[in-house]
Amino acid sequence: MTAITIDGKALAEKVRAQVANDLEAFGGPVCLATILVGDDPASHIYVGWKHKAAEEAGIDTRDHRLPEATPEQDVLDLLAELNADEAVDGILVQLPLPEHMDERRMIYAIDPEKDVDGLHPLNSGRLFLGEPLHVPATPLGVMVMLAEHGIELEGKEAVVIGRSELAGKPMAMLLLAENATVTICHSRTADLAGHARRADVLVAAVGRPGIVTPDMVKPGAAVVDIGVNRTEGGIVGDVDPAVAEVAGYLTPVPGGVGPMTIAMLLRNTLTAAQHRASGVAVPGS
Ligand code: NAP
Repeated sequence: MTAITIDGKALAEKVRAQVANDLEAFGGPVCLATILVGDDPASHIYVGWKHKAAEEAGIDTRDHRLPEATPEQDVLDLLAELNADEAVDGILVQLPLPEHMDERRMIYAIDPEKDVDGLHPLNSGRLFLGEPLHVPATPLGVMVMLAEHGIELEGKEAVVIGRSELAGKPMAMLLLAENATVTICHSRTADLAGHARRADVLVAAVGRPGIVTPDMVKPGAAVVDIGVNRTEGGIVGDVDPAVAEVAGYLTPVPGGVGPMTIAMLLRNTLTAAQHRASGVAVPGS
């Protein structure tokens, strides 16, 4: 069997075009503000991509890039300013932050209504309760990819490898909300391969090249590779490419989940603007 490739690049283009259309229908300006602290080259590239994509969709952007040595309080002050700024709909703090900063403190300081990365406890709590508002863009993008291919989730075994707040945990919650039976694996999991082999849908969000090998995959399973690993041979995912011979569906790296993450960030930003404009910034509150 050769797996069907889930083309994230093509789907992301479609989502971005939809966001551009919806934004036109919305009418008002929409603005995304980002904060990047330090010199991490990958972070600068990611933020650059986010701005380019936002501008192409018609979203205004504010690009705050601060030196590595910026005091934590300066970033908190900037966040307070952006929270209070009526013109700003979405705020994103690019992670990782420099070591002298407490990431959790920064995330807690973002107005949950503008938290387009979905990391504020109000947003992660709402996802946990099954009443999501802003959901992290990466797992949200994965759900759109699975839906696009009609991959059934109800009653299916889903195994997520990784339990980060940005990827693994919200991924598990979204799969659970679609009535999959979800297992979360992590670095202390005994018999990772045994769990993975049961999966109808297997998601890897680890950050280790090739951690998912063909013998860990149930024939015909949908395999989603969230991993982004920089190697001498270029960017690779967490899934050994030979998995394509066993899986039914496979997301490539690059060109899979990555482009969808950016597309869903745009969607989240427009959603934030729509909620703010309707006067129900946190629906249900
Ligand atoms: P993270 O915070 O480092 O989390 C990695 C997770 O993998 C942890 O839960 C860890 O378990 C688990 N893990 C580590 N070694 C393991 C092992 N040997 N067996 C099983 N589980 C293991 O990373 P992250 O932020 O979730 O990101 C994961 C990967 O996805 C990275 O490559 C990242 O670059 C990529 N990513 C891509 C996108 C995108 O847009 N494509 C977005 C976000 C992340 P413990 O909890 O026990 O430590």
